[in-house]
Amino acid sequence: MKKLGKYSMGIGDRFGRQAGAQLKAIIDAGKKGVEITPVWNKSNREHIIIGTEPADVRKEADEAVKAAKFKKPYFVDADHINFDTVGRFIEASDFFTIDVAAYIGQRACEEDIKAFMKKAAKYKGKLRIQGIPKPFNITSAYLKKVAEKYLFATKMAGVIYRKIEKLKGAGKFVTEVSMDEVPDPQTPAELFFILMMLSIENIPLQTIAPKFQGRFNKGVDYVGNPELFALEFETDLLVIRHAVKLFKLPENLKISVHSGSDKFALYPHIGSIIRKYDAGIHLKTAGTTWLEEVTGLAMAGGEALTFVKEMYKSAYEKIDELCAPYADVIDIKKERLPSPAEVMKWDSEKLSSAIIHDAKNPNYNPDMRQLIHVGYKLAALRMKEYLELLDKNKDVVSRCVYENIYSRHICRLFGIG
Ligand SMILES: [Zn+2]
Repeated sequence: MKKLGKYSMGIGDRFGRQAGAQLKAIIDAGKKGVEITPVWNKSNREHIIIGTEPADVRKEADEAVKAAKFKKPYFVDADHINFDTVGRFIEASDFFTIDVAAYIGQRACEEDIKAFMKKAAKYKGKLRIQGIPKPFNITSAYLKKVAEKYLFATKMAGVIYRKIEKLKGAGKFVTEVSMDEVPDPQTPAELFFILMMLSIENIPLQTIAPKFQGRFNKGVDYVGNPELFALEFETDLLVIRHAVKLFKLPENLKISVHSGSDKFALYPHIGSIIRKYDAGIHLKTAGTTWLEEVTGLAMAGGEALTFVKEMYKSAYEKIDELCAPYADVIDIKKERLPSPAEVMKWDSEKLSSAIIHDAKNPNYNPDMRQLIHVGYKLAALRMKEYLELLDKNKDVVSRCVYENIYSRHICRLFGIG
């Protein structure tokens, strides 16, 4: 079976230019003793908006790996695919994030619900999980509720998994199931039964992406109580450990955090918990690389700076349209956005420091950063120009991409000093 390493990172690269800089960050972490498997992920939505194909991501990853003479495993992730969208990813991907969020809450048939409840009946009463101080109290009504909410979704995960397996061959790819793009978090007890359901479907699950409490807004820090998140994360981790043995799931099954980028407040907690249990982690950082490209162009000045300002102006004007697909994962206060006329007067330093995620810098503007995060479509509309600017300013842009992944993400998460 293709096995994902203990530590892995999803490094999205919307415009396909930064794989080298991203890989350099991974290689440098390896030199510090932290081996991370790079996974280039791109969702169907991103491909549609940018006009790329999964084969482009494969080509980019292969070329970067070859150029760096990187000899370790790496993957190309068909991110957030479902039954309808998986088709075009089959060839180029060897990691599939099966997104069942849309199926959650759809009711499975009565017969299936009954069958599940019969199998799960032995967990009724006090369900104790090693390491978790308080047992979960499981009643028939609870099992029924969980089955009504999640059974259909896990059955669909099975259907999608088998579709991929049939086309690619068993063991030829890594399977993740994601349920993070929903309004309500899954509780640790729900996660236990979800894992049971996925094992009944015989899915060789290597990562699972639950929805956690708090808000995971795009490109900015966590909104919520990091201590409560830590407790939830640790409980989920213990549930997974228990479920792996109980349900005979793959030994290396681990949590996948779809971070929406930059959840710096959580990194020290995640880091210390995975080290405490010697557990693995998959961290998706999604759009952070795109934001670094914009930062680099702002820093470069001249026509590149003008391009960023013009893009901000269009984003400001089209804010509702840009934000609509991301309603659950952004929170922009319009009154805190500077007007485009004001931004037009800014210099490189002022604009880049508004975008760079440094909470200590008084210029940092998280509302503006979120808006730019979802505004990549606007660069796609001026693609030729944008790519030319990236090429012309390659040094400054790739330095931003590298520094961000290495210093802000990897060092903080894995405790590299
Ligand atoms: Zn996600």
